[in-house]
Amino acid sequence: MAGVVVDEEVGSPSPGISMVDCHCHLVDQSFDEDIDTVIQQAKQAGVKGALVVTETYTQFDKVLQLAKRHPDFVFPCLGVHPVQGALTGNQRCVTLEDVEKAIPIIEQNISCIAAIGEIGLDFQPRICVRPEDKDIQRQVLKIQVDLAKKYDLPVNVHSRSAGRPTIAALQEFGADKVLLHAFDGKPAVAMTGVEAGYFFSIPPSCVRNPESKLVHRLPVTNILLESDSPALGPEKNMRNEPKNIALSCDYIATRKKLDVAELSRITTANALKLFPKLARLDLGMMDCLVTNMKSS
Ligand SMILES: [Zn+2]
Repeated sequence: MAGVVVDEEVGSPSPGISMVDCHCHLVDQSFDEDIDTVIQQAKQAGVKGALVVTETYTQFDKVLQLAKRHPDFVFPCLGVHPVQGALTGNQRCVTLEDVEKAIPIIEQNISCIAAIGEIGLDFQPRICVRPEDKDIQRQVLKIQVDLAKKYDLPVNVHSRSAGRPTIAALQEFGADKVLLHAFDGKPAVAMTGVEAGYFFSIPPSCVRNPESKLVHRLPVTNILLESDSPALGPEKNMRNEPKNIALSCDYIATRKKLDVAELSRITTANALKLFPKLARLDLGMMDCLVTNMKSS
């Protein structure tokens, strides 16, 4: 793909807005044609950086190459998802062989990555077909949490039909730097994650649910923004993009009765806390530190 020249001067149109997309799949093939434009438009919307996750070891090289081309925006995460295979059919439960192939590649590239992910548990019946599948997923998760702990990295975590088991497993395995993305469990279960210091990222699909109980319950100290691009957009069946985290930001600000600039500052400060490698970006956090000192 011919690289489009990205204008380095492109910044946020509103200086108060600086956001981080904490979970997205920019190496999905739906972005193959126009990824440079997608990143440029995200920057114009005030998105300063993105944690780009993988699902299979076959995507590792692609995300590392993307990070090389966009070092000022892409923060790669390497990990093996509990669901393997193409989105369109042929999906299957992860195996120990999948993670065994991945670990050496992750370790070779450990200095380049911002987190281990996307990892987690997915207990949908169509994925966990055999009785042993849930236990295999837990083993695959433990191997990757152990790896994150070994290198002091955060984990970027998926949970589907497995909210309670995922938080319980993360706690049992001793994970302490955790992002739970697009959490679909009960808000009361999420609160056990909040007590453990875990963060929860909210995708733009939240706008389809004006009464999100999860957003209502979560304290802003534990909220992050994510797009999960190309999934979980504001409208069903559209290709989602990182620029749409502005919609999550607006939604959460309204629900929490904060202005958008303040909410963007809080979530970006949270992102920096969980993903320290973001510190190389200009996130405008000096303002935030001053604001926090004044308010404390
Ligand atoms: Zn994802």
